[in-house]
Amino acid sequence: MTTPHVTIIGAGLGGLTLARVLHVHGIPVAVYEAEPAPTARAQGGMLDIHDYNGQLAIEAAGLMDEFRGIILQGRQAMRILSPDGTVLLDKPDDGDGGRPEVQRGDLRRILLGSLPAGTVQWGRKAVSARSLGEGRHEVTFADGGTVTTSLLVGADGAWSRVRPLLSEVTPEYTGTSYVETYLFDVDIRHPTAAHAVGSGSMAAPAAGSKGIQAHREKGQTIHTYVVLRQSQEWFGAIDFADGAAAAARIAKEFDGWAPELAALITDGDVPPLLRPIFTLPLGHRWERVPGVTLLGDAAHLLPPNGEGANSAMYDGAELGKAIAAHPGDIEADLTRYEEAMFSHSVEFGSIGAELHDVDDDPAAALIKFYTEHTPH
Ligand SMILES: Cc1cc2nc3c(=O)[nH]c(=O)nc-3n(C[C@H](O)[C@H](O)[C@H](O)COP(=O)(O)OP(=O)(O)OC[C@H]3O[C@@H](n4cnc5c(N)ncnc54)[C@H](O)[C@@H]3O)c2cc1C
Repeated sequence: MTTPHVTIIGAGLGGLTLARVLHVHGIPVAVYEAEPAPTARAQGGMLDIHDYNGQLAIEAAGLMDEFRGIILQGRQAMRILSPDGTVLLDKPDDGDGGRPEVQRGDLRRILLGSLPAGTVQWGRKAVSARSLGEGRHEVTFADGGTVTTSLLVGADGAWSRVRPLLSEVTPEYTGTSYVETYLFDVDIRHPTAAHAVGSGSMAAPAAGSKGIQAHREKGQTIHTYVVLRQSQEWFGAIDFADGAAAAARIAKEFDGWAPELAALITDGDVPPLLRPIFTLPLGHRWERVPGVTLLGDAAHLLPPNGEGANSAMYDGAELGKAIAAHPGDIEADLTRYEEAMFSHSVEFGSIGAELHDVDDDPAAALIKFYTEHTPH
């Protein structure tokens, strides 16, 4: 029986969870990451980590204590407002621990810190991957280097360079983009906006897939996603290099909204950031190809529904456990992993589907979701 040496492309939450679970089981692993350093890009965003997927992955990684140390207490609170600022739902953090909030950067830091030095090779952007036959693959990097491997895992997100080995499907624009803003030091500098958002998350939805979602993050920061259904050409006509003008143009779409909500768009402390939303079809799957598989967004990129990072970590843990259980029979491990992953990706990806494109009272649909939703 030979222990495989696993090659992972991408050090996001999914790839790192897989690397950690393999390491716990003594299986050698190397991760190749395009970014030049762990701190190259702000890992913005708060994630709620669910007890039915993300937390199970953290447990498999043996990092529950470290995880408890990064939980932002009280942030599970949820408010739903109407565009005129009326509070329709004000649900406090019930402290049940079912979906505690953490900063994505903190989670990535504890995963990175749990791996032996040198496991992640930074500044190694994969540009292509090809089959060498008999389950072996060669990955070529932007720096001209190559690596060959008998077990290749594409954990390289939406625009995966490993995916073409398995599937011809490419991500498509959903017709909706998010515009991200950040307000800092909010209790002192932006008190009315801070009051509207409250101590956790706030959503103010409107018809036409439009809305404002905001989260109170660590260090008195409010991070807002402004959701707008417009073509990429429409957004392309806005000069995001001119932050103030871009914010004013986006805010024009929210004319008549309460000033404390509009302030989340216009009063940003850094220029707004455009994030077009792309997806793969729900239920994306492929025929087994020896020696290679995918996890996370590379496998099942879906519109943000609060499950993407959770299910990427879950995939990483499940794949790691499958390999560790039978390291001598990788093809059987990959078959079992993929069959379960295809089914979970539909299950997790469907959560919140009833909230898409709701034109008739979207706030009522959201309130129903938050008061009744019990996924498991
Ligand atoms: C606006 C927004 C809000 C979201 N909010 C939430 C949320 O609240 N909760 C939640 O669970 N999910 C959320 N998601 C989804 C979540 O961000 C993703 O599903 C999750 O990050 C997927 O993890 P991953 O490890 O598969 O991929 P990624 O996080 O994309 O990581 C991929 C890694 O691979 C690297 N990489 C990419 N290409 C290459 C290459 N060619 N060579 C080498 N390395 C490469 C990248 O630099 C990156 O480090 C949100 C998504 C968006 C867009």
